[in-house]
Amino acid sequence: MKCNEIHNHILFFVEKQLKAEQLQAVELHLQTCSACRQLAEEISQTLDLIHLEKNNSSDDVFFEELMLQQNEKRVQSASTLFLAKSQKTLEVLKIAAVISFGIFMGVLIGNKLQSNQTDFAQSETEFVQELFNNTDLAYESVEEYLAENN
Ligand SMILES: [Zn+2]
Repeated sequence: MKCNEIHNHILFFVEKQLKAEQLQAVELHLQTCSACRQLAEEISQTLDLIHLEKNNSSDDVFFEELMLQQNEKRVQSASTLFLAKSQKTLEVLKIAAVISFGIFMGVLIGNKLQSNQTDFAQSETEFVQELFNNTDLAYESVEEYLAENN
């Protein structure tokens, strides 16, 4: 696997949700690639922090929390996802309310909101893909490191 492919699997790897075949490929890559190893380590630490804060969260809420923390620009689609699919906890509703207020304010001050609304996640797959994209953004320094060394 190349680094880019590793990045697409690394979150599942850290969460120990890879199939045996993919798990083996990722582990093999991490043995030889310090940049990806560091990325996995940083993700793992971030997840640990979130798990500590949200001990009783389900995976769904946990992923959405991560999404919110990683990239505020994606908050709008995350809020739509919240409303459509979870409404599991009061906290989620509170977050959604804050986000909705933010969107409302955005409309008020004439933000180009419409262009932001066109890329709402259409499916679980796209949602997960967005999550990966967010992860990449959050670890931009690692990305730059990879670009320089490959
Ligand atoms: Zn790598």
